[in-house]
Amino acid sequence: MAINVIGCIFCLIQLRAAALLVIFTVLVPFTVHFVFTGIAVFIAIACNVVLVLSAMLFVVLTQYRTFAELIEVQSALVARNQSMKALSDANHEFANIDALTSLPNRRYFFGELDSLLTAQLSEGFSLGIVDLDGFKPVNDLYGHTAGDKVLAEAARRIRDVSPEYVFVARLGGDEFALLCENDSSGERLKAAAEKICEALRQPFFSLRTSVHIAGSIGVSVHQGPGNTAEHIYERADYALYYAKQNLRGNVVMFSEVHETELRDLHKMEQALWAADLKAEMHVVYQPLVDTARGQIKGFEALARWSSEILGDIQPSLFIRAAERTGIIAKLTPILLEKALRDLRHMPSDMMLSFNLSVHDLCSPQTMVSIIALVRAAGVDPARLEFEVTETAIMVDFDQACDALKLLRNLGAKIALDDFGTGYSSLIHVHRLPLDTIKIDRAFVEDIETNPTSGNLVRSIVDMSRNLGVGCIVEGVETERQVELLRGYGLVYMQGFYFGRPGTADDILKLCREGLPSYLPASGAGVHAAASRSAA
Ligand code: C2E
Ligand code: MG
Ligand code: MG
Repeated sequence: MAINVIGCIFCLIQLRAAALLVIFTVLVPFTVHFVFTGIAVFIAIACNVVLVLSAMLFVVLTQYRTFAELIEVQSALVARNQSMKALSDANHEFANIDALTSLPNRRYFFGELDSLLTAQLSEGFSLGIVDLDGFKPVNDLYGHTAGDKVLAEAARRIRDVSPEYVFVARLGGDEFALLCENDSSGERLKAAAEKICEALRQPFFSLRTSVHIAGSIGVSVHQGPGNTAEHIYERADYALYYAKQNLRGNVVMFSEVHETELRDLHKMEQALWAADLKAEMHVVYQPLVDTARGQIKGFEALARWSSEILGDIQPSLFIRAAERTGIIAKLTPILLEKALRDLRHMPSDMMLSFNLSVHDLCSPQTMVSIIALVRAAGVDPARLEFEVTETAIMVDFDQACDALKLLRNLGAKIALDDFGTGYSSLIHVHRLPLDTIKIDRAFVEDIETNPTSGNLVRSIVDMSRNLGVGCIVEGVETERQVELLRGYGLVYMQGFYFGRPGTADDILKLCREGLPSYLPASGAGVHAAASRSAA
């Protein structure tokens, strides 16, 4: 019986209550019965069993404590594992999900892109980049909270209209990315992208007022092997760039033509890296004319590049390549130094306009070297006017404003170039330290046939008058344009009609000979001078 009990206790050792029940159920009647027999041997056995079961009782109690501790440790371990998992989930979300829009973020997107590339899908895939048009002014005008609301709403619309097979991510700022598997022609993604553009075109009511923005999308397709994530991304980015320049608010597919352009751009970038900038870059000057007095008031410095490898390249192309490669930081001081050197030889009443790029405004080093060059040049800074475009200012309004104030403090003037082609609003123009607004030539091109252009010019002139800033119009090519523009109250003009960009010597000659006084009826005198300068 004792052996049975001991066996039972061993089996029930982890269940303390059951083991104790067995011990007491057996021990008490067993001992009582054996003791009351009065037989010495039985009494001895009863004592023995009491001693053994007492020892067993001790074992049960201590063993159970260890067992309970074990369970406790185990449940603590499970709890810890659970909290670790929750933490790692949160970490994963933090690292891969964008907090504002709850979309996968840039890191997640590039991870997905890499895995699509390594998966070597037989069907290929397509990639799209979405960029919101006109988002920055909303951010600047209504504040970052309103901007965040618009972004979250834009993200929701993009996700809602995208089919299940399109992976949507936010790359940062107002840029989103789309990935579509099994799409060798890009048609599946194109269809989705068109829906996205349509959805983004609808007004945003999340603010007190309704706001109109749009989305441009560039799409590229990956088919065969040999492409890296950078290649595919760069192509979509180029298509996006094309859309932003030419087809805002629409989808552009990366094409063969873009491939050639991109290759040319790379060639140009390489030639720029290899170029001896001081030797290959030079500056030409185009007259800025005061039509009321029939006199030249100054010149705009325009960069020219005679590349040893590629020949003559248009500034609109190489300036962009210089900006992309960061070479602009070296180029601007070189061009400015040359322009300042020429300015020293020009009559002291002539002023010089010099173009700055967005990178110049955003780079403290470039600003420091510009200021140092102007100080060292020995010319009155009041003779200098720096031209910046609206789009450059919109990249980082506050930093641009600070940079312009620095130049203003130096004594130089500031002109807002290509006005009317960007997104700047009256509020921006009002907040900028401006001296002149340069009306873009797009308004002049059709002024003879399109009354809307004329009305726009008239309202820009009125606006600049109210703001107390000067106004000049560029791209004037015909006598009729001059007459119309004069009628709208414009005095200062620039364009091929008055003179094409020429070398410093041409300009000196023009200064010596001067422009005959402006004759609105014929303009012949001015044109004659223009032809001379063009020659
Ligand atoms: P921009 O500053 O607006 O310069 C005016 C452009 O219009 C010049 O083109 C000029 O040649 C052209 N233009 C002037 N009058 C007429 C006209 O009557 N009709 C037409 N169709 N065009 C006219 P360009 O020299 O090709 O320069 C293009 C752009 O490249 C400039 O536009 C400016 O944004 C940029 N750029 C030129 N030089 C520099 C520079 O030194 N630094 C920077 N950052 N950008 C520069
Ligand atoms: Mg300019
Ligand atoms: Mg311009």
